[in-house]
Amino acid sequence: MDESNNIFESNAELPEIRSEWSLRPKSFQEFVGQDNVKGNLEIYIKAARLRGEALDHLLLSGLPGLGKTTLADIVAREMGANLHTTSGPALDKPGDLAGMLTNLEAGDILFIDEIHRIPATVEEFLYSAMEDFSLDIVLDNGPRGRSVRIGIEKFTLIGATTREGLLSAPFRDRFGVQEKLETYPAEQLETICQRSSELLGIQTDADGCKLLAEHARGTPRIVNRFLRRVRDLAQVEEKLVITADVARRGLDMVGVDDHGLQRIDRQIMDTVALAGGQPVGLRTIAVTVGEDDRTVEDVYEPHLIRCGFLLKTPRGRLLTTPGYKIIGQLPPHIKPSDQGLLFPES
Ligand code: ADP
Repeated sequence: MDESNNIFESNAELPEIRSEWSLRPKSFQEFVGQDNVKGNLEIYIKAARLRGEALDHLLLSGLPGLGKTTLADIVAREMGANLHTTSGPALDKPGDLAGMLTNLEAGDILFIDEIHRIPATVEEFLYSAMEDFSLDIVLDNGPRGRSVRIGIEKFTLIGATTREGLLSAPFRDRFGVQEKLETYPAEQLETICQRSSELLGIQTDADGCKLLAEHARGTPRIVNRFLRRVRDLAQVEEKLVITADVARRGLDMVGVDDHGLQRIDRQIMDTVALAGGQPVGLRTIAVTVGEDDRTVEDVYEPHLIRCGFLLKTPRGRLLTTPGYKIIGQLPPHIKPSDQGLLFPES
């Protein structure tokens, strides 16, 4: 896909990732919204600190860019604990994790991003670490194989996942605290946009922030990304303030339309429409639009489903009537002679 038009971050964009760190809230006060989650975490942290214990294991779920990593960092700061970070795909075998776990100090926090992607063997290895703070190390794999149990310090595991449903029930149950982050209302994204503008030294007026917030799919990472792109445009055009006009043209540049849709969203809908009303599998969609299944499912589809354009059924994806309308096509069950009923304004 065309990276320049991708409104989501990729690892290739290191300066953007560095900039993301600089915008990251460092305390619950700076972290906008998610009041229930913040309120709960503040109580659990206070109680753990009063008892002088490590915080219970915490599972954070929600779409990419909603603030899971940021919250893990804040929790570690509030607990005064060291934060060690890794991710599910980096943990191939139990040995990868054993070294990390044995090096933890009492109260340390281990953050595993994309925890739903750890292999089953690593997951099972984690069970005793989470429950009894011990590891079963296999010394010999042969028929006379034996294992030894070693103790580790009491630590807190924070897992982040975009796919809570992929975690096995026994694994999920080992997290004493489970919190789900929701997409943000536009007003909160406006606040985030204002805050980021100040941190980046950009002047943005209320209408400019409002426009960016309304197109950001309820996601702080996306509003911040828009802000950086629009800043580029303002700089080149020597505009001092990001107004709604500059913001609109900046969004055009990154291929985001009035509905907050980008080219790939439309490609996904076009692919489903091609099947003439038959459900279309995720794999087919992913191959057609040149993305991997996970990105289509985690990043693009949730917005289309929230907008009411796409339906996910057990047999595959279907477009809704508004979905057909937005891509300028007739639903297969509507005869061209009935078009006036569907598009009354046209
Ligand atoms: P996730 O781990 O869920 O993918 P991150 O924690 O990496 O998301 O957040 C992405 C970016 O969005 C962060 O750099 C941060 O600047 C911003 N962000 C996320 N949540 C908030 C929030 N509630 N308030 C302000 N900024 C936020």
